[in-house]
Amino acid sequence: MKKKTQKLSLSTRALHGKKLYAFKGPVATPIYQTSTYRFESSDDAIRYAKGDPSVYVYSRYHNPTVHDVEEKLALLYDADDAVLFSSGMAAITTAVLCITKPGDTIISTPALYGGTYRWFRDELSQQNIAVRYVEPDKLDRIPQIADETTKLVYFETPTNPTLGLVDIQAIARQTQQAEKKIGRRIFTMIDNTFGTVLNQNPLASGIDISVESATKYLGGHSDLLGGVIVAPSGYIKNVRTLAKYLGGCADPFAAYLLNRSLATFELRVRRQNENAFALAKFLERHPRVKRVLYPGLPSHPQYALAKKQMVGFGGMVTIEVKASKKYSSVEAAAKVCDSLSVAVNAMSLGGVETLVSIPVYSSHVFMSDEELRQHGVTAGMIRISVGIEDIADLREDFDQALKRI
Ligand code: PLP
Repeated sequence: MKKKTQKLSLSTRALHGKKLYAFKGPVATPIYQTSTYRFESSDDAIRYAKGDPSVYVYSRYHNPTVHDVEEKLALLYDADDAVLFSSGMAAITTAVLCITKPGDTIISTPALYGGTYRWFRDELSQQNIAVRYVEPDKLDRIPQIADETTKLVYFETPTNPTLGLVDIQAIARQTQQAEKKIGRRIFTMIDNTFGTVLNQNPLASGIDISVESATKYLGGHSDLLGGVIVAPSGYIKNVRTLAKYLGGCADPFAAYLLNRSLATFELRVRRQNENAFALAKFLERHPRVKRVLYPGLPSHPQYALAKKQMVGFGGMVTIEVKASKKYSSVEAAAKVCDSLSVAVNAMSLGGVETLVSIPVYSSHVFMSDEELRQHGVTAGMIRISVGIEDIADLREDFDQALKRI
């Protein structure tokens, strides 16, 4: 069955999952809104105790609605298995804690989602798990930095909110060199939230584990929270054990919504790619815009890498607006966000509606000036998560808002 479904396109896999056989039953996966499962007899309990995975016992451990989505997500990545969580952060924290223990170290690129960065900085450090940062243009330092304590190489690409890229194949290659040096396994893990599996499949480029906030493009309608880990089955087995203790399991209703969203995943993200590209080109010519960051623009410093490792360039565009006589750069960014009428001033991303946010007040809040500098975040930045609206309406909306500064 796996071989047959792998040959199908991403859109077909996202729609049908593995259900390519005749069966009598509902077309839509029902919501198994239950915390526990009734046994026909204690024989079921005995089978469960002996390790039979087909016996459902408790929804923190497993749930049929959740299972269906996990199967589909693994299929999208051509991966062994996937585990769904209650949020992206539940997926990320469980994925990292499954690999590291006190005394271990992580190597990471520095431009990360603020929540992940702050968790590394404020919480992992308390558990004596240190993070060493390596710049994306110096990945050949990974084998040098790695030592006996290194268990994980972690990264994001494109990065939030600066849309810088990290060379996925180089991460895999340099980590292999590091493994040779220390003679032990080092896992590689990507946060693939911005790219999504439609635009890049890092597992096909040698990365071990992909984590994603399903709240964003996978969910796509700004109405659910979720997270996913996609990886080989040996590691996923450990994830499932740890997830039972940490308890960040997905709710069946959120899983149902996510399953519904996956049916249109390819359509939505393809349109978001197209709209983002068109809006980026328009904003690049706008007199009130200082800089546009978008991997699909030839002006992007890593355009060649974008073309090498991305199928589409994604739905995220970041602009830096100019300060004016009336407004400082951060005031100008706020004025633009407040003047938009089609685009929504809200913090998340990946939804069908265009969302804007100011990184210094949202994803990168509570960071020092030095940390902001390291992340490449400036006061006049606006992060735009481009939706599926008509591009002409978006152009007009941004034009009228920019003219007010
Ligand atoms: N990773 C990235 C790149 C994100 O942008 C976010 C949230 O904004 C997360 C992870 C965390 O996901 P969640 O909010 O679903 O916990």
